[in-house]
Amino acid sequence: MTSLNDSDTNAAHHADNDCHHDWLVSGEPLNPCFTIDFWQGLTSGLVKCEACQQYNLLHLQAWQGRNLRDRIYSCAPLLNSSAAVFLRNMNSDYCDLTRKQQEVDALIVSAGPVQHLVLVKDTIVDSSCSPRHLKPGYLHWRELGDSDSWFSRFKELQSSG
Ligand SMILES: [Zn+2]
Repeated sequence: MTSLNDSDTNAAHHADNDCHHDWLVSGEPLNPCFTIDFWQGLTSGLVKCEACQQYNLLHLQAWQGRNLRDRIYSCAPLLNSSAAVFLRNMNSDYCDLTRKQQEVDALIVSAGPVQHLVLVKDTIVDSSCSPRHLKPGYLHWRELGDSDSWFSRFKELQSSG
């Protein structure tokens, strides 16, 4: 097993990072480095911060508006080693969807707790907040629950923090 990136000693703890990551900067485009799933826009994917090199797993929690352009994603930190293994396996040449789902499941299990929720409007970052007591899940976009209540909870979290 090759390890392309051994900087994980610095990232041994998911939470030891107070960088204001790229995907939290209002007015900037959301820029995924790998798309896991997509429906009229990103629904699940990886982002990598230019500043601190940390990967996060972004996953859609709610959407609304014309063409579902307003989207709330959860952001969970990944170890560089987990992201590297995942990306290597995804980029290797196979078309087995079952295998892909297993890789995605393994990546989700390896992710740390969700640290941020981010609201993206038409692929531009709008605002973000801490999830506090909320525990975002990893439902498929077809199985999303009540998006309107998610948006109102997001607003509450922002105004209380
Ligand atoms: Zn960062």
